[in-house]
Amino acid sequence: MDSAYLSPIKNQLSERRERLLHTNKNIPNSTHLLDLLKQVDAALERIDNGSYGICEICKGEIEAERLAADPLVTVCLEDLNAHQQKALELDLEFASKIQRNLLPQNNLYVNGWELSYHYEPAGPVSGDFCDIIQMADNSVLFVLGDVSGKGVAASLMMSHLHALIKSLLSFGLSVNELVDKANRLFCESTMNTNYATMVFGKANTLGEVEICNAGHNAPLLLSDGIVKPIDATGIPIGLFCEAVYTVEKFSLKKGDSLLLYTDGLTESFADGIEYGEARVKSLLTSCHNHSAEAMVRIFLKDNKEYTGNASLTDDLTIMAVKKN
Ligand SMILES: [Zn+2]
Repeated sequence: MDSAYLSPIKNQLSERRERLLHTNKNIPNSTHLLDLLKQVDAALERIDNGSYGICEICKGEIEAERLAADPLVTVCLEDLNAHQQKALELDLEFASKIQRNLLPQNNLYVNGWELSYHYEPAGPVSGDFCDIIQMADNSVLFVLGDVSGKGVAASLMMSHLHALIKSLLSFGLSVNELVDKANRLFCESTMNTNYATMVFGKANTLGEVEICNAGHNAPLLLSDGIVKPIDATGIPIGLFCEAVYTVEKFSLKKGDSLLLYTDGLTESFADGIEYGEARVKSLLTSCHNHSAEAMVRIFLKDNKEYTGNASLTDDLTIMAVKKN
């Protein structure tokens, strides 16, 4: 590992060491504190002797994401002992419960709109984002996204973003203002390694829709059997505080619908060949007479058939929004 990467870790560890020493003065002879101190000293020593980030057991590299979350880890995932393995599983279980509690009501009929989704993590937790919120002005906000990274870190980043957006809603912002603010706050509150591609949509009772696409796969509009992608209007959330977001406005008439999805759909594969956007578009043209719920079911069924029911390699989220 190079020094540019290691020096912030070393600074951080030294600072934490000071805090430990300070706490130790107040709680003298705490064996737990002394043990932590030993671990911090050992990590600092590993940085100095060049063995930091190398697994004690297999001598392979320790996963960078785990080191970022806990600079004291000394073994790679595969070499965790039974106790450590169990602790990690429990963390995942909690993160998974937190995440499931954040999901919106499914198959929602609200003010002339029908919204349905399928949310499926590839592992115990997902980095995908899915929310449907009924607004005070009778419009409905639907949000779908994909947070970079994997595991507990990505899932909690997703929860963080979820809370951020929920809190911003009370300010009565327009869609692009909401995305602007969410981006700035997300940028300022996370490490620069985290970002999220997201689609924000707002549909009102007149059938008017505003879409702000922050670097995500284009949502697809289905109208009179013709599929039109709504292209990205901004960069992913969390990359640059100064990013500017605009919205695309259009109207949906009775029977029109929108399909949103994460790349767990298009980048799923069979025999090395991707499911792909072309297949999504072509399948969507046949969905004209179906409810949002049926559309989601059709895509899920087609995708499972395509991949031969293989276990997911990426988190999968599909959402359909239909004007009734
Ligand atoms: Zn190892």
